[in-house]
Amino acid sequence: MRRTVIAGNWKMNMTPSQTKKFIEELIPMVKDVNKCDIVLCVPFVDIAVACEAAKGSNIKIGAENVHFKESGAYTGEISAAMLKEIGTEYVIVGHSERRQYFGETDETVNLRTKAALAAGLKVILCLGEVKEERLSGITNEVVAMQTKLDLKDISAEELKNVIIAYEPVWAIGTGLTATPEQADETCGVIRNVICELYGKDAAENITIQYGGSMNENNAKELLEKENVDGGLIGGASLKTDKFTVIAQAANR
Ligand code: PEP
Repeated sequence: MRRTVIAGNWKMNMTPSQTKKFIEELIPMVKDVNKCDIVLCVPFVDIAVACEAAKGSNIKIGAENVHFKESGAYTGEISAAMLKEIGTEYVIVGHSERRQYFGETDETVNLRTKAALAAGLKVILCLGEVKEERLSGITNEVVAMQTKLDLKDISAEELKNVIIAYEPVWAIGTGLTATPEQADETCGVIRNVICELYGKDAAENITIQYGGSMNENNAKELLEKENVDGGLIGGASLKTDKFTVIAQAANR
């Protein structure tokens, strides 16, 4: 049976000392959450502190991006091996802010996914349509194509370490949320593509999250949907009380 995963994406927020304080505060608040996995994806410089603070708890730590080359002249970039060695378990790949502001394409998202998986990291692969695509009625085609391109040449075995985060771009950081029905339908489209590519078992077992202004007030309704196996949460993951309410809503 697929796991529900609640993951925070801190984006460019929190210093190492703030990270330590946050995690120490969060640990007792989520200690009884055992029916879903809790992940915090944090800025690179916070990872080591986060891993140390989260040791022995049910909170897992992830990065927000990874480069696809093993090493070399790529100033400012971080490799999968570097992340792995400091204790990182998960990594977000293909977030819409990376696609929008840093020129990421489905091709580089695919390369990053492969590099992360080869290093033994679990990948949270983000994809989703922009507002114009939703309004033109082509959401299903867009997410189906992204799913295929982003997973190109990834084996069924490797797919076991991939979570897909369906994140409609128009809902990220905007306060606009997909309705539970829209989230369910589009996560279902992605699951059908996985079925086409990898078969029924893989489709039933893959975790597909919804992300886009999920918060303490709307999480329950979204998470109740059949095809929504958790959430990728930006803004609301920066407050321990809000993030706890969301984790508890998923703990069923
Ligand atoms: C995100 O960063 O992936 C996200 C969904 O952000 P927010 O929850 O703030 O919309």
